[in-house]
Amino acid sequence: MTATVMVDEATVRASALPVAVAELAECPFSALADDDLLEVLRLAERARRQLEALDHVLIAELEARNLAGRYVLRGSKQLLSGLLTLSPAESSTRVRHARELGPRTSLTGERLPPLLPAAAAARAAGSITARQAEVIIQAMARLRSAQLPIEQQADAETFLVEQAHRFDAGTLTGIARRLLDTLDPDGRLAEERSQQRRRFLSCVPNGDGMHRLTADLDTETAALAMTVLHALAVPKPSANGDHDERTAGQRMHDAFRSVLKLALRAGELPASGGVPATVLITMTAEQFRTGTGLATTSHGQKLSVGQALRLADQAAIAWIVHNSKGGVVDYGTTRRVASDKQTLALIARDQGCCFPGCTDPPEWTERHHIIPWREGGPTDLGNLCLLCDHHHDRIDTGGWQITMRDGVPWFIPPAWLDPEQRPQRNLRP
Ligand SMILES: [Zn+2]
Repeated sequence: MTATVMVDEATVRASALPVAVAELAECPFSALADDDLLEVLRLAERARRQLEALDHVLIAELEARNLAGRYVLRGSKQLLSGLLTLSPAESSTRVRHARELGPRTSLTGERLPPLLPAAAAARAAGSITARQAEVIIQAMARLRSAQLPIEQQADAETFLVEQAHRFDAGTLTGIARRLLDTLDPDGRLAEERSQQRRRFLSCVPNGDGMHRLTADLDTETAALAMTVLHALAVPKPSANGDHDERTAGQRMHDAFRSVLKLALRAGELPASGGVPATVLITMTAEQFRTGTGLATTSHGQKLSVGQALRLADQAAIAWIVHNSKGGVVDYGTTRRVASDKQTLALIARDQGCCFPGCTDPPEWTERHHIIPWREGGPTDLGNLCLLCDHHHDRIDTGGWQITMRDGVPWFIPPAWLDPEQRPQRNLRP
C-alpha cells in the first residue's frame, strides 16, 4: 500500500515539472528588473542541471530492476535510445554518468553511495554542468586504474569539484591534466600509447561533391594542427573592402586548404606508385578554351575548370586536355611555373600577398599570372605577382584588375566598390 502511494507521489511531482516550466515561460520577462532577469536565468540553469542529475537516480533504478533485460534489450542504452529517441552516443553518456554519479545497489541488494560522491552531490545541487562532470569522471577513472590509495582519490575528486565551481569545462580539463601528471606520472605514457592505437583520419565523399573529414588526432598532431590552422584562419580583408565574409568554420577550411597547397608546392611529398605525388587534372579542349565546365581529378573529384586552371598555375599539378574522343590535345606540368630565381625575385619584390591590406607572408602565397597563361600571358616578373590562396581564389570573380606600374603590381577596385577606380597597392612596410 505504502509503495503505491510513493509511486503516485513521484508521478504527480514529475507531471508538475513541465507545467511549472510552461508557466514560467509565460511570465512577462520584459517587465523584470535586470538583476531579477539574471536571477531567473541562474535559477533556470540550476534546475536544468538538477534535472540532468535526476536522470542518474532514475537510470540507476532502471538498472537495479534490469528493465532492459525484461524488454529483451541488450542494455539500458538501447532502452533509453528507444524510449527517448536519443542517439546511441547520448544514451551511452547518460548511462555512464548514472553509473558514476547515481546510487548503486550491491549484489545482495544493499544500497550504496555513488562511486564519486562529491561530484554526485554537486550535480544534484545543480552547481556543476554535465561537461564538467565528464572531465571529473574521466580523470577519476584514470586515477582508479592507476590504483591510487582511496583517500588520495577522494581528495582529488573533492579538489576537482571545487575547481569546477570556479572554472568552465575547458579550463577544468587543463587543471585535471596537471593533477593527473602529478599524481600519476606514468599514466601519461600509457595515455600516449593508447592515443597511438586510437589515432584515425578519414575523408569520405558525401555524395554531393563535398567530403566529410573525420579524425581522432593524438595530442601532438592536434597541437600542430591548431597552431598552424588558427594562425592561417585569421580574418582577411575581403575583396569588397568589407570585413571577411567567411564564417569561422569556412576560414578553418580555407586554412586547411592552404596547408595542403603549401605541401604540394614544397615538392617534397613522398612518391606514390613510383610517380612523385601529383594532382592530375583532366578536362576537354572545349573546357580548356572557354574556361568553363567541370574538370576531373585522378581521385574522381569534380571541380570547376576555373579552379583547376588556378591549381594548374602551381607546381606539382599535372593537367591533361582531352578532345571529345578521349585523345590528349595538350598536357603540362611545370613549363608555366616560375623558376626558382624568378620566385626569389618575386618574394623580394612583393614580400607576401600583394592584395591591398593582406599580411600573408611569402610562404603562404601562390604565383598569379596577371594575364592568364591560357591567354598567352608570359611567365615573367612583369606578369607575375604573389597572392595568398584566399585572394588568388577571389581576384578573378571579385571584379578587381591588376596592372603593373614601374614593375610593381597595383590593384584597381571594381566600379561598384570605388566609382573612381583609384588603384591601390599593398603598403607592406
Ligand atoms: Zn591575401
